[in-house]
Order: sequence, then structure tokens, then C-alpha cells
Amino acid sequence: MPSPLIRDVLIIGGGQAGAHLAIDLRKKGFAGSILVVGQEPNLPYERPPLSKAYLLGSIEIERLMLRDAVTWAEQDVEFIVGHRVTGIDPALSNATLNDGRTVQFGYCVLATGGQPRRLDRPGADLPGVHGLRTVEDVDDIRAALTRAADAGTPARLVLVGAGYVGLETAAAARKMGHEVTVIETQARVLERVTSPIVSNFYQRLHRAHGVDIRLDSQVARIEGDTRVEAVQLASGERIAADIVIVGIGIEAETELAQEAGVACDGGIPVDEFGRTSAPRILAIGDCSRHPNQLAGGVRRRLESVQHATASAEVAADLILDRPRAYQEVPTFWSDQYDVRLQSAGFADTADETVVRGDPENGPLTVIYLKDGRMVAIDAINSPRDFMAGRTLIRGGARPSREALADVATPLKSLITPERG
Ligand SMILES: Cc1cc2nc3c(=O)[nH]c(=O)nc-3n(C[C@H](O)[C@H](O)[C@H](O)COP(=O)(O)OP(=O)(O)OC[C@H]3O[C@@H](n4cnc5c(N)ncnc54)[C@H](O)[C@@H]3O)c2cc1C
Repeated sequence: MPSPLIRDVLIIGGGQAGAHLAIDLRKKGFAGSILVVGQEPNLPYERPPLSKAYLLGSIEIERLMLRDAVTWAEQDVEFIVGHRVTGIDPALSNATLNDGRTVQFGYCVLATGGQPRRLDRPGADLPGVHGLRTVEDVDDIRAALTRAADAGTPARLVLVGAGYVGLETAAAARKMGHEVTVIETQARVLERVTSPIVSNFYQRLHRAHGVDIRLDSQVARIEGDTRVEAVQLASGERIAADIVIVGIGIEAETELAQEAGVACDGGIPVDEFGRTSAPRILAIGDCSRHPNQLAGGVRRRLESVQHATASAEVAADLILDRPRAYQEVPTFWSDQYDVRLQSAGFADTADETVVRGDPENGPLTVIYLKDGRMVAIDAINSPRDFMAGRTLIRGGARPSREALADVATPLKSLITPERG
């Protein structure tokens, strides 16, 4: 039996959060040993371009990488990639890898992200049905699109789920000239994350670009002999398909934590410093559920680059023994065609919305209030509104509805010095 590796910090998961933790620890002067174990074959890379520039083929894999191998080595961050951590013993402070190696840790940080939710319908395992989470997924999708379009006809792509990933993929596929149908069970796109005004804007945008959006529609089965040929809807309608991409959200990767006896509830709940229920085990990024004052102290599981990095920085401070509570206004962005959405705050906590700008063609900003206090903003092609909005949310501002709705009044002018 080989002797255990002994490391001060073991990071499980080499995604955005795990990588940022290693970077931030070094930036803040941490001199201990850091080991990142990641089950993907690649060193950490950014996922957002996967459904945008990388799917379009306009950037190559090197541009996705958060750091190159040389820089990681210079930073003295050690990686074991292509391997899973299969068990953690919190009492002994050790973890086991799938090849039998064990790691004795000072701190263990769960940065295990999430897995694409599977479509629970007959035919969902057929070749040609894809998830979209990793570089490998997109390489497969790109190859399938190219193959399907080889005969000189566009590929027929069916996207299941009209969330951000689904809609960004639809936009990229239309740019490439493919036929795109989006199937959504809800009555509007982006239902889970935004207001009807913003959903309507995106429905119009995609339809204007030739995307066939089917709302209130359920997939009954996916048909095909050796590979996908069609998607059959619950209504009985059959939509011919060369490729199906399932984008119906992710499930937090909690199995490892659960088996180790760490409390889980559809994510890994942590306190404001990133601590799980087990001593010296932290959780960050998509897999974690952080308490957020802006959401009334309720724990939220967030899926964004900003949360991955912010939660990693809080964990770094705890490891460095200068605990700092997580207090972030969550932000997110999405690029579709030439339209950029920037969001901040928790729109689902609002009881009122104020519309600013042009709901048909944009720029459009939707401001969300709760008891008159600004709690969220969606800014479409309006970076200035987004920047000012984030500050107003952070300060708990209560601007007048008239000023918010008036495009001639810059949101920045509503920031009072004590709130700035
Ligand atoms: C296509 C796409 C587009 C996106 N676009 C945007 C965007 O525009 N804006 C935005 O803010 N966010 C976007 N996101 C979300 C953002 O990328 C994620 O929130 C972020 O990557 C989360 O980082 P993470 O490190 O928590 O999880 P992940 O990036 O999922 O990393 C977790 C890693 O842990 C590994 N792992 C899991 N279990 C184990 C184990 N037992 N042992 C070893 N390794 C393990 C996984 O294989 C994975 O590599 C997008 C995501 C996707 C998929």
C-alpha cells in the first residue's frame, strides 16, 4: 500500500471554483501545499464559451484554459486530472482516489460542481442525444453538426429546455445556419430565472432569428433505430432531428459529500464562511448552498462564474485564518446573437418590476423591487444600467419608480454617497 500523500489543501474538482481557490490562495500568500484532483482530463477551463464562441468554432481549447501548465507549476499548484475522489473520511481527514491513492489533508474543499440533469424519457440514451457541460460534450456536438450538415443541408437540431445554456446554443446554431427547434415545458423561456418581460424579449429575438420555439410542450420520447431521428412530443407531433441537446439544468454533485456523512440538501449547505457540517471540509461553487443576506439569509445554490470565484475567495480567507463572511450581490451574464444580458440580485424575491427602455428591441432594463427596495436588475445591452444597478442593490437603495423608468435619468445619478 503506497504511503498517503500529505497536502495542506485538497481541492476536489478542477472547475472554475476549484481553480480560482488555488489561484486566490497563492495570490494571498498561502505557502502550504495545494493539490487539485479533477475527474476531467483537462486542466481547469472556463465553461461559458462552450455554448458561445467554442461551439461556433471561433476559439480553440487553449483560449478556454484558466492557466497553462507552466503557470500552474510556477504557482506550485499540483494537479491530478482524469481521476475521481471516491471517498472522504472526515474523522481521519483523508480522501481516497479511484486508483487507490490516499490524501491526508489539512482542509478539504468540495468544488464538485454539477451534472447535467438527464431527460427521463425513452430514447434519451440514443447516439445523437447530448448534454452540454464539458469540452468533450461540445466537441461531440460540433462533430455531429458538421456530419449532419455534410450533405450541404443544414443540420436539424432540437434543444430540450429554454434556459440560458439552451438559448445560447440555439443562437450559436442559428449563426451556423442550422435549423433549430426549442422545446420548453413552461409557458415562457427562462421561466425559472427571470420576469415575463425579459422572457418575451428573448422569445421575440429567437423567433426573429428563425428559431422555432415550442412552449408548454413536453417531450414524450426520442425516436431512432441506431441514432436519433426525431423527437416525439406529448401532443403527438413528431419533430425530425439529427441532433438533440438536453439543457434542462444540473443536479449538484453531492454524492461524495453524502457518502462522507456531510449534510446535503440538493446541494451542500455551508455557513457564511463556506464550512460544511463536517470539520475542515468546505464547499464552493455550483455544488454549494450559501446563505445570502440579499435573499433574506436563505441558502441559495447559484450557478455562475461570479459565485464560483466569490465563494472560492471566502474559502481562501477561512483557510488563511482570517474568516470573512460571504456577502455578495450575485451576478450573471448571457450572450445570444449580438445581445448581452447582465443580471444582478435575486429577481425571484421581488414584488414589483419597473421597465426601463424598449421591451421590443432593447436596450431594455428591468428593475426588481421588494417593498420598494431594489433587489435585482436585468440589463439587456445596457452595461451602464447594470453597473449602477449592482451598486444600488448592494446599498439597499429605494429609488423612485419614475426615476428608474426614465431612460433620461442615468441610474448612476440615483446612487447616494453613503450607498455608493
Ligand atoms: C455551457 C455553459 C455555459 C455557461 N455560461 C455561463 C455564463 O455565461 N455566465 C456565467 O456566469 N456562468 C455560466 N455558466 C456557469 C458556470 O460555468 C458555472 O457556474 C461554473 O463553471 C461552476 O464552477 P464549479 O467549479 O462550481 O463547477 P464545475 O465547473 O462544474 O467544476 C466541477 C468539477 O468537479 C469535477 N468533479 C466532480 N466530482 C468529482 C470527484 N469526485 N473527483 C474529482 N473531480 C470531481 C467535475 O468533473 C468538474 O470538472 C455556464 C455553464 C455552462 C455549462
